[in-house]
Amino acid sequence: MIISGKELSARLKADMAEEVATFPAKYGRVPHLAVILVGEDPGSVSYVTGKAKASAEVGIRNTTIRKPATITEAELLGIIAELNADVEVDGILVQLPLPKHIDEDRVIAAIDKTKDVDGFHPLNVAALWQKQPCTLPCTPKGIIKMLKAAGVGIAGREAVVIGRSNIVGLPVAKLLLDENATVTVAHSRTRDLAEVTRRADILVVAIGRPKFVTADMVAEGAVVIDVGVNRDPESGKLCGDVDFAAIEPKASVITPVPGGVGPMTICCLMENTIECFLNKQK
Ligand code: NAP
Repeated sequence: MIISGKELSARLKADMAEEVATFPAKYGRVPHLAVILVGEDPGSVSYVTGKAKASAEVGIRNTTIRKPATITEAELLGIIAELNADVEVDGILVQLPLPKHIDEDRVIAAIDKTKDVDGFHPLNVAALWQKQPCTLPCTPKGIIKMLKAAGVGIAGREAVVIGRSNIVGLPVAKLLLDENATVTVAHSRTRDLAEVTRRADILVVAIGRPKFVTADMVAEGAVVIDVGVNRDPESGKLCGDVDFAAIEPKASVITPVPGGVGPMTICCLMENTIECFLNKQK
């Protein structure tokens, strides 16, 4: 079974659009997401464009603020302070990565926690690890939604996550743990990685290396979630961290790249923006 993040996210966005359409009558306006793009990295430009398109589909107001890569950290912090103070802005997202002269951690920490739609603010991260109410990071949240939509049982299963980044590996491991999986986090220093990954009932791969996970690393019937977004050096096309063609016949459930985790990430960003908006109305 191939889980189409594209189809699932389309259904979820249609439901959100119906909900958002009721907001002007109830609350006097729709949710407003402000996205800051620094520089012109093609990957970042395409992500920001995708976020604006999804906002339009759902009926969320989107303001994209584009600044040159030469912007100073102080100027960027000034923009964030203005957006924090604007009562008609519900979500603030700074597209990463930022140019090297800007301290990303300082920028993320400057965003009002209640407007942190990416779930990267230290207070949101702390809340996640303490099982307190928080904004969940979009990619891990989308992965859990995909598993549930596909009817994959998580409790009691062996889950292996390859990658331990703050935005994917670590939070998805925590969410799987919260769903009562037995979780192993593997990384570049893991010994005999294939032996570890073959134990997985659920394998989540977030490395950033094209087709790194080969068929011999995956158990028969495993559920495989491919987070990677890479260029295939041979074909030049987008591909994941998993050798899809070789693993698809072996896996019980697998996500494609493109059209898998990526669309679910944007879908969860829309959901987080609505949540931040509704929290404010309470
Ligand atoms: P990252 O910060 O670069 O982290 C990569 C992780 O992979 C690190 O923990 C690293 O281990 C581990 N790793 C690297 N080489 C390895 C190896 N040979 N064996 C085992 N582990 C290895 O990456 P990220 O931000 O998590 O992103 C990972 C991938 O997901 C990228 O392709 C990115 O574009 C994609 N992504 C997709 C979405 C989406 O919505 N689809 C969202 C976010 C990211 P160490 O910690 O030991 O260095």
